[in-house]
Amino acid sequence: MPLFDYCCGRHTTEELFFPNEQIPEEKPCSTCGGRAIRMLPVVAKTPGRWGDQTGKYGVNGFFDRGLGATYYNSMEKEKLMDAKGLTTLSSFGDDYVDDSLDKQTESDLRHERNIKTFKAKMADSGGDAGKAIAETFTLSEMRKQGTLTDTGVNDG
Ligand SMILES: [Zn+2]
Repeated sequence: MPLFDYCCGRHTTEELFFPNEQIPEEKPCSTCGGRAIRMLPVVAKTPGRWGDQTGKYGVNGFFDRGLGATYYNSMEKEKLMDAKGLTTLSSFGDDYVDDSLDKQTESDLRHERNIKTFKAKMADSGGDAGKAIAETFTLSEMRKQGTLTDTGVNDG
């Protein structure tokens, strides 16, 4: 059963959905009634590159308020983010998700810290999940956490 976090910027609630149930992108916050946005799984293993969904960006591209630019696909988005010193989830590489068991505890702690940062950024940006993700997973932060080395993604 899919489980999603919804965040209004101040409160986060978990919502459980049936497998065939429509999962709304936003819903009223169950605590304050404000607009709560569905949070992307911060670490998600997807078959393709994150964000490569046919038709997602449309013929006119997608204007990203966080990046302050329009892009037409995730490659352009990554280029824009690189230029700003930001990184995308695909920079993690598959091994970030497939961490071996002995690294799991460290990984969990790191994940928790990331979630905490992410939630703070969500609040700061008034619920802009894209911006919050971009600011949470910066290149410098990835280097600090050892996910990204100077030569590329740490295969660990
Ligand atoms: Zn709320």
